[in-house]
Amino acid sequence: MPKQVKIKYTQLFIDNEFVDAVSGRKFPTKNPVNDEVIALISEGDKADVDKAVDAAKRAFDRNSTWRQMNPYIRGQLMHKLADLITRDLDYIATLETLDNGKTYANAVDDIQASVAFLRYYAGWCDKIQGSTIPTGDTKVTLTQREPIGVVGQIIPWNYPFMMLIWKWGPALATGCTLILKPAEQTPLTALYAAALAKEAGFPAGVVNVIPGYGPTAGAAIAEHSEIRKVSFTGSTEIGHIIMAAAAKSNLKRVSLELGGKSPLVIFDDADVKEAAKIAHDAIFSNHGQNCCAGSRTFVHSKIYDEFIKHAKQLALARKVGDPFNSETDQGPQIDQDMVDKIMSLINSGKQEGAIVEAGGNRTGNTGYFVEPTVFSNVTDDMRIAKEEIFGPVQTILKFDTLDEVIERANRTNYGLASGVITKDINKALKFAQAIEAGSVWVNCYDAITPQTPFGGFKRSGIGRELGEEGLKEYLEIKTISIKITKEN
Ligand code: ADP
Repeated sequence: MPKQVKIKYTQLFIDNEFVDAVSGRKFPTKNPVNDEVIALISEGDKADVDKAVDAAKRAFDRNSTWRQMNPYIRGQLMHKLADLITRDLDYIATLETLDNGKTYANAVDDIQASVAFLRYYAGWCDKIQGSTIPTGDTKVTLTQREPIGVVGQIIPWNYPFMMLIWKWGPALATGCTLILKPAEQTPLTALYAAALAKEAGFPAGVVNVIPGYGPTAGAAIAEHSEIRKVSFTGSTEIGHIIMAAAAKSNLKRVSLELGGKSPLVIFDDADVKEAAKIAHDAIFSNHGQNCCAGSRTFVHSKIYDEFIKHAKQLALARKVGDPFNSETDQGPQIDQDMVDKIMSLINSGKQEGAIVEAGGNRTGNTGYFVEPTVFSNVTDDMRIAKEEIFGPVQTILKFDTLDEVIERANRTNYGLASGVITKDINKALKFAQAIEAGSVWVNCYDAITPQTPFGGFKRSGIGRELGEEGLKEYLEIKTISIKITKEN
């Protein structure tokens, strides 16, 4: 696999042009394998967000090409973008692996999935309908759904390209115009996506990409009084800040997809080996850097010891190393801050009496590698059972009854995802009814598809992404009431 690629775009993308930041400042984006600078990227800030908002407003003008466009053609543009992404899949996946550290195979999967998400939303463009509502003989009343307008989108570094497409899909399908800020750790594929949007033929100002830092460029988006909606994916901590900024500025609509501490519950009738594999993938995929990771593995006491044996074997077999090597299962974590956080939580687990069954240390001479780690003997009060680790750390807890595990699984401020493994349909359904989470996966995990809504209960978020629900987040409803005159 090619490790060195030409970085084609490093500037901000505003009004269909690549431009320097108003301040002229740049920031480095680094390769998490060795901490080397890949490229210097123009650093957006408030002045650049203002420029992008002006462009996005012009593109959203009532008489603009974008607003006048037949929705079917809008869908064709989105399909064209999907074609271009498919054409350049190797290049985009290589950029993603360089910038993020995820394995090349995972990056390819992400880009392919992104194409499916984009095409799903492309199909919606000409199917966004209102309704007629009976209001008596004297009036005809109907509703129409309209794009909200200029939207801001702030995304994290764990799935840089896929998160971008999750945001762009519904925004473009509904006819909004957008300003996206990628995470400062991973701006490269977002800038390339911007170039492809131009090549696909989106009119100037529809898509704008402003790399930069959260408290500057991100805050400028959240606080902007001409941005009508902000869609944010990231930590719960920053979710609070975004919502406060929206409230303080112009009451822009807010959708938030935040953290999680998702339970995966395994009953004693499960095939233990198979369940251990599902639980392993649920936590270790994407190096544990996954908001819906199955980060609390609850195992029934009757199969607990056998389950630990399998979980340990799977973790020890996991190959950590160069993400471009096809043998590698796990590349580096994203940066030093994340490694510090993960190691501090691993150490807290050791100190609080959890047993390290596998891993437990950093690894490698350079870069941000952490051993796949398995803790048994975990109790609900330990930090590793309560806090989102966002790393390759499996925490295994023991339980005895369905009611007990439901109560414990719900004892968290988060509520993003959950899973249950059992052959007993009644147990599975009772769990599904009782769990406070936006997704429940039965005998599987991470069953995310373009048409299925995804999002959180409680402090895991507000609103939904994907499916028809995700589309509604970008639409206003207008009620039109027409009086029928009595003349005839
Ligand atoms: P993570 O823990 O996944 O890095 P963050 O919530 O810190 O998540 O970051 C997710 C995104 O939010 C990034 O694009 C980051 O730059 C942005 N961000 C961070 N702080 C702020 C802020 N104060 N206002 C707006 N965006 C922010």
